[in-house]
Amino acid sequence: MATSYQMPFITGLPVAFTHGEGAWLWDTNGKKYLDALAGIAVCGLGHAHPAIAAAICDQAGKLLHTSNWYRIPLQEQLAERLCKLAGMTNAFFCNSGAEANEAAIKLARLYGHQRNILTPGIIVTEGSFHGRTLATLSATGNRKIQAGFEPLVQGFHRVPYNDLEAVRQVGVHSKDIVAVLVEPVTGEGGVSIPDAGYLKGLRKICDEHGWLLMLDEIQTGMCRTGKWFACQHEGVTPDVMTLAKGLGNGVPIGACLAHGKAAQVFKPGSHGSTFSGNPLVCRVGLTVIDELEKGKFADRAAKLGKSLLAKLKETLGPIPGVKDVRGCGLMLAVELDRPCKDLLQIALDRGLLINVTADSVIRLLPPLIMTDAEADILVRELEGAVRAFLEKTAPGGKEPLAPAGSRA
Ligand SMILES: *Cc1c(COP(=O)(O)O)cnc(C)c1O
Repeated sequence: MATSYQMPFITGLPVAFTHGEGAWLWDTNGKKYLDALAGIAVCGLGHAHPAIAAAICDQAGKLLHTSNWYRIPLQEQLAERLCKLAGMTNAFFCNSGAEANEAAIKLARLYGHQRNILTPGIIVTEGSFHGRTLATLSATGNRKIQAGFEPLVQGFHRVPYNDLEAVRQVGVHSKDIVAVLVEPVTGEGGVSIPDAGYLKGLRKICDEHGWLLMLDEIQTGMCRTGKWFACQHEGVTPDVMTLAKGLGNGVPIGACLAHGKAAQVFKPGSHGSTFSGNPLVCRVGLTVIDELEKGKFADRAAKLGKSLLAKLKETLGPIPGVKDVRGCGLMLAVELDRPCKDLLQIALDRGLLINVTADSVIRLLPPLIMTDAEADILVRELEGAVRAFLEKTAPGGKEPLAPAGSRA
């Protein structure tokens, strides 16, 4: 929702929140909502988490920013903690997911140039989302996100998602490939979960060719899928891993982690950012890790994700109009047989915050702190919203006959 002073970059919902607590948000009229989106997988620890709030207050009273011209002990600590959790060795910090992927793309290109590949190529997939900067939208596998911003950044070779043979074929035909960039589970693209063995297969192909395996874990990382990082489901260590979203629980921080040969690519002067890894965001990142560890939230996300998936399958699965119910930890999706953006308003009216992506996929990204009782409310309200929506619409992409709550 944009005022006349804002650029209208998104058609959001006509609601504003004043405060939150845990999995709940309150709007300006005092109405309470269950948050099953968590700011798009950002607020894994929920809203107004006391330890995060305390860390921000304390750090604000000490030091916010000095620039990377000086050592930043909190950044050094966060780099070590993240690398140890992810099985990586070196970290570069930035301020968003797109920037983390920009760093990865630059790293891959430099890796190529250091090997005398002067037009380095990166394999990316259909249906992927990597961000909105020029390089990351060029890497993104969605024409809608690219249209109007041509000329695109060159050097991306697109293959179908979950298709190892297609990746191998690019290797046969192109000698300039230096890296593969994929999401372990697609987020914006509709929560596509690849076959078991996909990441292992990519690891093998990359090793055979000397390519970098770069995993975009911006949405899947930080315990979201039931492991600290989704690649750990397959025991795969990438050469590059990008993070953001859940790392800051709401403060803007991203990270590009590297391992092995990828860790030696950037040299002083290769890359940089003024805000990157400042004391405030790193203090919060460290607190997020502390709290995720203390609460064993990787295990909790796996357990709650499993029970939520079972309940969603049971209640929503049999409804005509529901095509599929799937999930990986607390990245869950209910796919309908028709576009369902209007479901957002219906759910909102019922006090439930959800997301719709890829036109017809209801995406649920509940906070990791959600309780079993809250998860039951989520299932109940979602079922009600989906039934109400399906009753009002005909399959085949028609607009609802009578949209609940009209939107400007
Ligand atoms: C959100 C997201 C991004 C972009 O992150 P921003 O912080 O919005 O720039 C990139 N990749 C994936 C997989 C994402 O989910």
